[in-house]
This record gives sequence, structure tokens and C-alpha cells, in this order.
Amino acid sequence: MALPPPRKRFGQHFLHDDTVIQQLLIAIAPRPGQHLVEIGPGHGVLTRPLLQAVGELDAVELDRDLVAELHTTLAGSGLRLHAADALAFDFAALRTDERPLRIIGNLPYNISTPLLFHLLTQADVIADMHLMLQKEVVQRMAAAPGGGDYGRLSVMVQTVCRVDYLFGVGADAFQPRPKVNSAVVRLLPYAQPPIVLHDPVQFAHLVAQAFSQRRKTLRNSLRGYVDESALSALGIDPSARAETLSPQDFATLSNDVANRQGD
Ligand code: SAH
Repeated sequence: MALPPPRKRFGQHFLHDDTVIQQLLIAIAPRPGQHLVEIGPGHGVLTRPLLQAVGELDAVELDRDLVAELHTTLAGSGLRLHAADALAFDFAALRTDERPLRIIGNLPYNISTPLLFHLLTQADVIADMHLMLQKEVVQRMAAAPGGGDYGRLSVMVQTVCRVDYLFGVGADAFQPRPKVNSAVVRLLPYAQPPIVLHDPVQFAHLVAQAFSQRRKTLRNSLRGYVDESALSALGIDPSARAETLSPQDFATLSNDVANRQGD
């Protein structure tokens, strides 16, 4: 069957390297009885072996032509296909029993950051996520404080999940070839978060504000939000930059602000 040309606007880069597909499947280790959810199944190159291993699967695909194709090629396979935008999709609604969701996706890179944030808001129904992303994005997710890769994304992801950088994937593994290198990351949402946030919305604002001008000192970037004496009282140097604070430091700061607002 002649395939329609890949659509740039849907961030379509289809995996076609069997070694990488096998590596990904080994990392995921799908087992019967698990509740898998694939984002962006495309032509089904991952969907097929996942279905073989598990027998059923939910998948969310935006491109209606691909949805129609998968309905034909994977009819009767146990695939539950949702023609929807993953950015607005209610993943939690897929959880119909006690089994948490295992999210899998070779994600469209043009929406990867908002999609990650969307998934993080539903982390309480997710067992784990195996995601193919632009390599730099995975490096930023996994980065430790102090370096240039460490920023808002690192703090927001690491507050909710353990982050494991699994392996890099070259551009030749995809058709069409993307301009960037890729990597696979495993995210494990914490059952018992080591960092407890009193006000998650305020935390997100604070972190965004601190990194909005990342070369400024905290004294300046958080001016009007947290005053210098409050920073010092928490043992945070007002002349430090945001990139030196750990996720725990941001949580301490945010909880302090939230508590004082509640007074
Ligand atoms: N998993 C396939 C396809 C990866 S390309 C493979 O590895 O070969 C990314 C896929 O995500 C495409 O199928 C694209 O149509 C789909 N997609 C793009 N934006 C989406 C969105 N907002 N919601 C759901 N799927 C989307």
C-alpha cells in the first residue's frame, strides 16, 4: 500500500531502524495484563509488537489519515484507537481499573514540552513513561543543578518523576530524517513524592519566574515575589542564580511563600 507523505505539521518522523525498535521494546518490557497507552502510533511500528506482547492497547493519534489506516491494518488486534490531540487528552479517563498506565511514545518533537507538562499533571495515574524525544530535551530533563542544561524543565519533571536517560538515537533511525538527534527517556512518577508541594500552581509560577532571566541573581529575578530576607532566612543566597537551586530548594521556597500567603 502506498503511504501518504509524512506531515511536517504533525511532527512525523517514523522509526524504521529495527535495532532501535528492539532496544526500545527491551527497555519497555511490555507484559500481558499491563495497561499500555501509546501516543502518536503513526504507521504502528511500535504498536504492533506492543500489541503482540500485551494483547490490548490504547493509542492516541491526531492525524485522521493515520487513524483510518490503523483501523484497517490493526483491525481485531486489541487496539483501542482514540482520534484525538494528545495535548488535550484526558489520560486519567483511560484508567478504568486499578492498573496504572504505562505511557509510550515516539513523540512529535514540536509539542514535546507542552505534552510533557500535560502528562505530568496526570502523573498520579501513570506507572511509567518511555518517550523518544529530541536529545537536548532529554538532557535538560535529566540535568543536575549547576549546569547549562538545568532549568525549568529539569525542576518541573524531577519534582514529579525519577528521570532515567536510557540511550541516544541517531537521526538515520527515522524516516524522514529529523534535523536533530534523539534520545529515549524513562520517567517514573514517584508513588511517595520526596518533595511535597503545598501549592503546585504557585510552584510552577515561581520556577518559571526564576528561570525567565536565568543569568540574573535570584534577588533580581524574584523581585516582587520573594524578598531578599526571606531567601536568606531559608539559607538561599540572594546573589545565587536559579540554576544553582535544587528542585528541593525551589519546593522549600515555594512552600514558604505559600505558607506566608496563607497567614
Ligand atoms: N510512533 C510512530 C510515529 C512517530 S511520529 C513511529 O515511531 O514511527 C509522531 C506521531 O505523533 C505521528 O503519528 C503524528 O501524527 C502523531 N501526532 C502528532 N501530533 C500529535 C498530537 N497532538 N496528538 C497525538 N498524536 C500526534
